[in-house]
Order: sequence, then structure tokens, then C-alpha cells
Amino acid sequence: MIYGSMADSNAGAGKMEKIVALCKRRGFIFQSSEIYGGLNGAWDYGPLGVELKRNLKDYWWRSMTQLRDDIVGFDGSILMNRAVWQASGHEATFSDPMVACKQCRKLFRADQVWPAIEQSDWYDALAEMFALGQLDTLNLKKWAETKGRRDAPNLALVRNLPVTLSWLSEKVQADGGLSKLSVKEFIQYLATEQFAQTGLITPCPHCGGELSEPRAFNLMFKTYIGATQDESSITYLRPETAQAMFVQFKNVLDTTQKKLPFGIAQIGKAFRNEINPRNFTFRSREFEQMEVEFFVKPGTGPEWLEKWREERLSWYESIGIPRAKIHVLTVPDKDRAFYSQGTYDLEYEFPFGVQELEGIAHRGNYDLKQHAEHSKKPLEYFDEETKQKYLPEVVEPSAGVDRTVLALLCEAFDEETIKDDESGKEEVRTVLRFSPRMAPIKAAVFPLLKNKPELVAKAREIYGALQPLMKVAYADTAAIGRRYRRFDEIGTPFGITVDFETLEGAKEACTSATGAPIAAGEKDTVTLRHRDSMKQERIAIGDLFSWLLMKVA
Ligand code: ATP
Repeated sequence: MIYGSMADSNAGAGKMEKIVALCKRRGFIFQSSEIYGGLNGAWDYGPLGVELKRNLKDYWWRSMTQLRDDIVGFDGSILMNRAVWQASGHEATFSDPMVACKQCRKLFRADQVWPAIEQSDWYDALAEMFALGQLDTLNLKKWAETKGRRDAPNLALVRNLPVTLSWLSEKVQADGGLSKLSVKEFIQYLATEQFAQTGLITPCPHCGGELSEPRAFNLMFKTYIGATQDESSITYLRPETAQAMFVQFKNVLDTTQKKLPFGIAQIGKAFRNEINPRNFTFRSREFEQMEVEFFVKPGTGPEWLEKWREERLSWYESIGIPRAKIHVLTVPDKDRAFYSQGTYDLEYEFPFGVQELEGIAHRGNYDLKQHAEHSKKPLEYFDEETKQKYLPEVVEPSAGVDRTVLALLCEAFDEETIKDDESGKEEVRTVLRFSPRMAPIKAAVFPLLKNKPELVAKAREIYGALQPLMKVAYADTAAIGRRYRRFDEIGTPFGITVDFETLEGAKEACTSATGAPIAAGEKDTVTLRHRDSMKQERIAIGDLFSWLLMKVA
């Protein structure tokens, strides 16, 4: 019996902590190199995580290259000639402005400093003091000598209390009093020991120290090819999969004789030396992308951009991410990549905020033009109809595998209070409500009792018959209720239990899960238990396989 969902306790950070813990506990995602203290920004997918990720990638691949006539698949190398990155502009411009703390030396992406400050251990108490107007010297002194000393030892207020307090009151008065300040400015005042020539200082989120001016930081991982490590052997781990598809455009075109509009699809690893990897797998240094470069006739880019936006929104719906949870951001001119003529970001409501899942960009003919110029090889398309040669425009839907896996986990995670049918006690049921299409394990087969050879033999037989068709599990330890719960927690949509009615015949007539009648006394039926509703019904073993296949297709 279900009493209710625990929606309130599943908001924000609390929910994320539970998801991270579940991922580790049940083998979805582990920290990379964990026994050596980990490696920031890298993650390993465990036995269940890899199934989930594979289901996602396989389904994307099928949607793009099998169910459509106008896209072909491709798998490029991760290491490419350095000239590719020079032509694409990555070597010169693939960078984020970055700031460093002069005291603790930590690095932050300039645009992420304030969000990091707001999440820091020391911010909340100060912001609350500010909101309540409790900003007298005594309160600030008390904070600086306790929490401040512990969590923000390099904040000017903590390092040099009397000086900061005295110029603060002077300065704030001169600026028209505290009521004129925003909380940001207030924090900056506390970070500025004395009014520097440059004005107010923004403090380091980690220790409260002074941050440097922003400087460009290239996100590509540099490496060397061959035995000598000099300028001539430099290349990079690819920061996106796209470029290989542009540089092989002509080969793909010539070998497939595709006509515009057509696309090339690829799934593969990408690497970015992110300054602050964070939010579990959301921002990693090694991740996978699923990208399509869709080549279209000049002038038709804008209309294809719209088509792809719709296409991708319904695709997310088909994997269990509702449209209402995806926000479409029209990226403003000033924030778009320099080559883009229009970009939509599809953003998902993650527990830590609304954040990008996929970018869909109209890249014009920028990439093909660059590669044609730098390689001095013609990359034009010959239009049979008009007898003209031209460079096509490109629309690129670029999705993150890891971010989508994370969105699937966040969307699926649920907790509810239920009453255990056997013990009558209340308990919390954790359930991952994956769509059957995405679920790592589609069904679990159980003999009701482990010590009844006839039950075990029949369950093993069903399990063996299902194995070639889909990923299934077999479990015979613990009470059946406990087994159901274990599989709920990893998102297995169906439980198949071989019980005494399977062997001896159904106790009473009923309707099968397929809608067909089951007669009293009919043998070879099993209990089919549904993860989400916990409803149980019977189904003939002969109907089970096609029924399951239809559900997980
Ligand atoms: P962000 O603004 O979050 O850094 P981006 O706009 O740089 O992302 P794109 O270059 O458009 O990202 O890459 C396409 C997709 O690749 C993103 O929508 C995202 O799903 C994925 N992606 C990009 N960077 C990362 C990362 N560091 N970790 C995980 N996935 C990423």
C-alpha cells in the first residue's frame, strides 16, 4: 500500500546526495581511481550504469541512423592532426576566462565564481545577517572569530578585523548606508581590506582570499605524438566529436552518394580540462557526446534549426524525460559561439538547477570553409539539380551522454512510504522509475522459494529463454518482498515470479496481463509484478516473451 511520495525531502541538494549514494551503493557510477583518492572530473560506470548508458546510446544511434534515411553513422579517432584544431579555431579560442585565488591557489571559471560563493560553507550566515540587517560590529566580529576563521580564513574581515571593520563603516556610510548595498556588494566589502585601486574584490569561494584578474585558459588536453616532445609532436585529445565529421565530410559524401539534406552521426568520448568539474557527472573532464552534423542547402539552416529543436524535444520525451522538464533557451547573440548563427540550449531541471543537456546550433558553413581553406582541399557539394558547387550549411544537435544519463537518474529517482504486505510495517521504498526502454535490467525472474527444485527449475528455464532477448536477472535469495524492493531500487520494471500456481494451476480464473482469459487450474502461468504500481497479475509463460518484448522495445 502506498502512503505518499516524499517529494519535499527530495528537493535540491538532498536529492542529489541520495542519487549519488544510490549510484555508488548499487553499482551505477563510481568515482574514478577511488582507492587512490579519486581523480576530479572523471567517473567510472559500474555494471548497472554501463547498461543504462548503453541503452541510451543504442537508442540514440537507432533513432538517428536506423529509423531515418537521411543520417549515416561514423566513428572518428580521438587523436587527430593538430592542423584540425588550428583550422577549427580550438587551439586559439577554445578557452574559458579563469581566475585564481592569490592565497589558496584554487582556480575558478570567472562566470562561476558567484554561484560557487553562494554554495560555499561561509556564505549563508553572512547573507542571513545581511538580510536581517544584523550588521553591527559585534555580530561581524563574532562571526569572523568563529565561523569565519574556520571557513573563510583569508577573507579580509577575518584576516584583518579592526582595519576592515573601520574602513567598512566609513566607506559604507559614504556610499549612502547599508540599505543601498546588494548582498554581493556587502560580501565584496568584507573581502576588501582597504579600498584597492581597482575597487572592490570578489572573494575566493574556497577560502575568502583575493582572486586574480581573469585570464584565458585553454580547455584542451595537450599531448605529444611519438617519442619526442616538442612543438612538432603536439596534438590534443578532442574536446568535441564534431571536427572528425567535418574533415571526413567529402569521404562520407563520396562513399554514400547522399543528397542534401543529410547528416553524419557519431557517439564518442570528448575531453575538456574543465576548471571546476562539479555536480557529480554533470561537468566532467572526460565525457561522451552524441552529435549529428546535419548538412543542408544554403539558406535553409534556420528552418532546420527549428525542425531539430522539435525532433530533439520529442526524443527526450521518448526516453522518459517529460517536455515540461526541458527548458528551451534561445542563446542570446552575446553568449553564442562566434561561428553560430543561432543556438538553442535544451536545459533540464536538475536538482542543482536548470542546466544544459544539449546544444543545437546553426553553424553556417564555418567549419567546412575553415577546413577547405586550411587543408587546401575542396569540400564543396555538387548539386545535381542546379549544377552548382557550394559549401552546405550545418545544423548540429550535440547532446551529452553523461548529462542525459544523469537526467534519467534524476527523473527516475523516487521515494515513497509504503506498508509492507508481509510485516505490516511502514517503510520507505526507493524506486528508479526508468522507462522500460532505458532500464538497465528489463525483468527479474524469481522462484518463490529457493528450496523447491520444481520452482527453481521452471524459473531457471524462463530466465534462460529470456537471456538472448534482453538483459534479465535471476534472484532466489531473501523473501520475495525484499527481492522486489531490491529490483525497484535499480529500476527493473517487471518482476516474474514462479509460484505454486505455476506448477499446480491458477487458483481461480482471471484476466492475463495481455487481456486474455486465464482459466482456473491453468498451469504454466507466472505472477507478473509491476515496479511502479506494485500491481501483480498473472500471465501465461507462452505469452510472456512477446509481451515483454513489446514493453521494452
Ligand atoms: P557548458 O556551457 O555546460 O560548458 P557547452 O555549451 O560548452 O556546455 P557544448 O560544447 O555545446 O557544451 O557540448 C555539447 C554537449 O556536450 C553539452 O550540451 C553537454 O551535454 C556535453 N558536455 C559539454 N561539456 C561537458 C562536460 N564538461 N561534462 C559533461 N558533458 C559535457
